[in-house]
Amino acid sequence: MTKLRAGIVGAGIAGASCAGTLAAAGWEVDVFDKARGAGGRLSTRRFEQGWATLGTPFVSAKRDPFRSQLRDWVRQGWVSAVRGNIWQGRATISWAEAQLQNHYCPTIEPSQLVRKLLGSARLHTGHRVAALKPRTLVLDDGRELGDFDCVICSVPAPQAIPMLDALPLLRERLAEVRYRPIWSFLMRWDGGPAADVIKFDDHLLNLAVRQPSGGPGLWSVYATHEFSETYLEASEMEASNRAASALMGLLGLPWPVEIEASHLWRYARPENPVGGFWVGDRENRVALIGDGIAGVGVERAWESGLRLAQAILQSKEELAL
Ligand SMILES: Cc1cc2nc3c(=O)[nH]c(=O)nc-3n(C[C@H](O)[C@H](O)[C@H](O)COP(=O)(O)OP(=O)(O)OC[C@H]3O[C@@H](n4cnc5c(N)ncnc54)[C@H](O)[C@@H]3O)c2cc1C
Repeated sequence: MTKLRAGIVGAGIAGASCAGTLAAAGWEVDVFDKARGAGGRLSTRRFEQGWATLGTPFVSAKRDPFRSQLRDWVRQGWVSAVRGNIWQGRATISWAEAQLQNHYCPTIEPSQLVRKLLGSARLHTGHRVAALKPRTLVLDDGRELGDFDCVICSVPAPQAIPMLDALPLLRERLAEVRYRPIWSFLMRWDGGPAADVIKFDDHLLNLAVRQPSGGPGLWSVYATHEFSETYLEASEMEASNRAASALMGLLGLPWPVEIEASHLWRYARPENPVGGFWVGDRENRVALIGDGIAGVGVERAWESGLRLAQAILQSKEELAL
C-alpha cells in the first residue's frame, strides 16, 4: 500500500511533535527548515567546551499530555528539574517564590530533544520554504514539491503570512497575531551573586541563567520586551554593549563582562494567538500549528503539533483536516 505523505514547514517543537506522531503511525514525513538544524526557538550554540542556549531556557508542564511527555524525558535523562539558587533584587529566594518550582531544563542540547521527537521523519535543513499551495510546498529556489496528502506550516505567524497568498482563508486567520521580540546574549563574567538564575526587577533586563556546559562563568541573559523593541533595528554590537552595561550596573560587577554571542528573536512570544491547537483548510489539505495558534510556550506548541497529528490520524474521513 502506498504510504500517506506529509510535508511540514519548520522543525521547532510544534513541527517535530506533529512529524514524529505521523511518522510513528506509518506516514512518510518530510520536514523542511531554513536553519542548519532542528530546534527553532529551542536551538543551541556550540562551543569548544560544550553548548549553551540563547533561546528557551526552561520547559514546564501545566497538564497532560505534556506532563507525561516531560516525565518520560526525565526518565530518559534528557531533562531535569531546575535546582539551585535564584537571586532576585538583592536577595536569594526560593524556587516557589520565583514561581519556578515546576520548571525543567534540558540536560542534553535542546535541539537534540526536538531532533528525537522527529522520530523517523526526514529532516531537510537549509531548506527555506517560500510558499504553500494546495498539497504543495514551494522552496525559495523555485522548486515545487507536490503530491503531499497534507501540508503543515509551523512557523511564527508573521513569517507564515507571506507564504499563504494561495490560501487566503488561512492567511486571514493569522492576520491579527502579533509577536514581541527578545534580545538574548551569552555573557561571561567573574563574581556576582552565587546563584544559578537571576531574575532582574528591571526595565532593560529580565533574566539570566547560568550555562552549565559552556565553561566557567557563562550565562544566558534575556532582555525585556521593552529593551528588545527599543533595540529592534540596532546592531548586535550596540544592543550587546547596552545590555552588558545594564548588567554590570545591576550586579555591581567590577570587571567588564565578555559578550560571546547575541541573538534577536524578532518573533519570540505571540501576544494574541489565534486559539485552539491548529487551524486547517480542509479542501486544500493545509493546516497551521505552533505557538501563534496555540499560545506561547513549549507545552502549547508541542501539543498543537500532537493534536493536529491525532486529528489527522483519527479522522473518520480519509485525511479530513
Ligand atoms: C528567548 C526566548 C525564551 C523563551 N523562554 C521560554 C521558556 O522558558 N519556557 C517556554 O515554555 N517557552 C519559552 N519560549 C517560547 C517557546 O520557545 C516557543 O513558544 C516555542 O518554542 C515555539 O515553538 P514553535 O515550534 O511553535 O516555533 P519555532 O520554534 O519558532 O519553530 C519554527 C521553525 O520554523 C523555521 N522556519 C521559519 N520560517 C521558515 C521558512 N520560510 N522555511 C523553512 N523553515 C522556516 C524556523 O527556523 C524554526 O525552526 C521562549 C522563547 C524565546 C525566543
